[in-house]
Amino acid sequence: VANVSHELRTPLTSIQGFTETLLTNDVDEVQQKSFLKIIQDQSARLSTVLEDLLSLSKLEKDSEGVETTPQKIGPVVQTAIQVCEPKAKKLHVDFEFEGDDQIIVNINSLLFEQALVNLIDNAIKYGRPQDGKNKGSVKVKIDQDDQSVRVSVIDQGKGIDNEHLSRLFERFYRVDKARSRNIGGTGLGLSIVKHIALAHKGSVKVESQLGQGSKFSIILPKNHELT
Ligand code: ADP
Repeated sequence: VANVSHELRTPLTSIQGFTETLLTNDVDEVQQKSFLKIIQDQSARLSTVLEDLLSLSKLEKDSEGVETTPQKIGPVVQTAIQVCEPKAKKLHVDFEFEGDDQIIVNINSLLFEQALVNLIDNAIKYGRPQDGKNKGSVKVKIDQDDQSVRVSVIDQGKGIDNEHLSRLFERFYRVDKARSRNIGGTGLGLSIVKHIALAHKGSVKVESQLGQGSKFSIILPKNHELT
């Protein structure tokens, strides 16, 4: 509750402050516009945090009730990539895909797509190459063994120090708070991914090397009746 309150209070304080200034001070038209823009951005932020909190709370309350159907994994991965394409273009990030997209998995396609979008969005946001190269690349890889199907999102960014890895999937945990907030992060994306994986009776995994990049995976149990 303390975390949630803090996340909501920051944008609210800003909205209250700028509204009051607009109502009580003589501000010129240019300033008015700039204050209104801040109020608009902060309201959007409030609404994003609330949406993420609601998704998380629904998943926590009813993870048993998530309906899944057997389907090819390829189209779900492609839709998630498409959703992230505009942001990737803006930040000069290309996508690569590797693996068998015909594998059939038992998933809730909307939730699974949301989990992948969260991982790909992070890979785009935090995964800029560190060697001064302009272009980044995000790889989505599918592989499988006897027991499971694994979908991984791999970036070439600055990576994450070992000390953070075990806490990354906690609500509101961020490596760099200010940077995350500045780029519109809520700190809830990875907890949502974890809960979606759990609702599929699966798990999440992160591997990362400082200076080289990160690999986030969702591991789904294989349904042997489907293969
Ligand atoms: P946020 O909204 O802050 O992105 P997330 O729950 O999605 O929240 O991620 C938590 C934190 O994990 C981020 O703030 C960032 O510090 C770190 N992180 C997530 N994905 C990556 C990545 N691909 N590379 C480096 N750091 C990452």
